[in-house]
Amino acid sequence: MNNHDITSPIPAPLFPGVPFEGSPQAAELITRINEYLHGELAALAREHGIDHENSPGKALLRQVWKRSHALGFYGMTLPPQMGGLGLSVLDHVLVKEAIYASGSPFAPHVFGELSGPPRVGALARVATPFQLQNFILPVAQADMAICFALTEAEAGSDAGNVQTHAVKDGDHYVLTGEKRFISGSPFADYAVLMASTATDPAQREVSAFFVDLHAPGVRVQAGYKTMAGQTSTGNIALDGARVPATHLIGEPGRGLALALGRITVNRLLHCPAMLGLAQVALRDARDYAQQRQQFGRAIGQFQAIQHMLADMATDWAAARGLMLATARQIDAGGDPRAQAAMAKLFCSEAAFRIADRAVQIHGGEGIVQGRRVEFLFRMLRMYRVLTGTSEIQRNTIAKELLAAP
Ligand SMILES: Cc1cc2nc3c(=O)[nH]c(=O)nc-3n(C[C@H](O)[C@H](O)[C@H](O)COP(=O)(O)OP(=O)(O)OC[C@H]3O[C@@H](n4cnc5c(N)ncnc54)[C@H](O)[C@@H]3O)c2cc1C
Repeated sequence: MNNHDITSPIPAPLFPGVPFEGSPQAAELITRINEYLHGELAALAREHGIDHENSPGKALLRQVWKRSHALGFYGMTLPPQMGGLGLSVLDHVLVKEAIYASGSPFAPHVFGELSGPPRVGALARVATPFQLQNFILPVAQADMAICFALTEAEAGSDAGNVQTHAVKDGDHYVLTGEKRFISGSPFADYAVLMASTATDPAQREVSAFFVDLHAPGVRVQAGYKTMAGQTSTGNIALDGARVPATHLIGEPGRGLALALGRITVNRLLHCPAMLGLAQVALRDARDYAQQRQQFGRAIGQFQAIQHMLADMATDWAAARGLMLATARQIDAGGDPRAQAAMAKLFCSEAAFRIADRAVQIHGGEGIVQGRRVEFLFRMLRMYRVLTGTSEIQRNTIAKELLAAP
């Protein structure tokens, strides 16, 4: 049986007695987004056969981006002067969690997380008027899709070890190298791409550029699937691509600082996706435990199953508490680096434990493809690697702890 469909009513909270942690504005947004996800977008997914294993093509994605923009969701994470809602980090986290808790395959596209406004919002303060007009505003208005390209064969966890080089030639830079594992690149129009502008190869001088993915000398190599079955990741090959110098973002050598400048908030902002998906796994496991009969009773009556559910709920609540506390610290003006790394570490590991137990509770059904918990197990495995592995988070936490006076 396939239970990827999200046409079912908007689910009730797991623990109804807990008051909503965000603002009335966020509560109202969540209601409207849920109606959109469970109504229009669920119908669209059904019509086009889209689920977590069958990714939408670019034309359909454009339709979703445009519609999300018309409804006021697409640019909501941007500052008000760019048409956004200027949400607090706490509200942002809560809205994003609700989007992922819907289980919709369109979740990463409602506010353009994969290839939209969140990719460029932080660049607005260093962008030139030309860049604002030609790249940032079109992305904000869902007229252009953009990806973020840092990772290379030799620059993974060691993000500064970028080998793609950009050599100045008159009023252009000539870029050569290869990016890999770039989310959204198969359907993006542009990339915010990091390349080394150092003349001495021993030096690290990473600069950021807006790169047209359809320009001569630029090739996106899609065609591989992640373990969760998605095809939205690709490589970008640059073979002497000529990029106008007007596409350089900020000062030369400031690329990595621009990319990692908001690392605290960016790390935290992955947590609501994991915990939204973990909530889906927990809900599915709870419902299955109530329905599935063995030995003449629902398996949810066995203490072994009850304890698994209790551990899952406790993991979820603890991870969520850390996520929300870190969001509040950022909103209060802090830069809680260690806490954001702890949140990324703990949320990703807890979400995977929840998915693992959800599979166990489903028995044989849980390991057959088509069951949502089977997909969630594969999907939540990925977050322990993505955007800074668990080991890199531990390095950050230890470094902050040991540096403290
Ligand atoms: C589906 C997907 C989407 C992605 N999207 C993007 C994207 O949009 N843009 C982008 O730029 N990148 C993207 N990435 C890249 C991602 O951020 C990297 O894969 C990740 O940072 C890890 O780098 P790596 O794969 O090279 O692993 P490696 O760095 O080779 O790590 C291998 C192992 O060594 C460990 N390790 C490495 N260094 C240390 C250390 N100092 N201490 C302890 N352990 C260490 C790691 O934790 C890991 O266990 C994506 C990757 C995937 C798989």
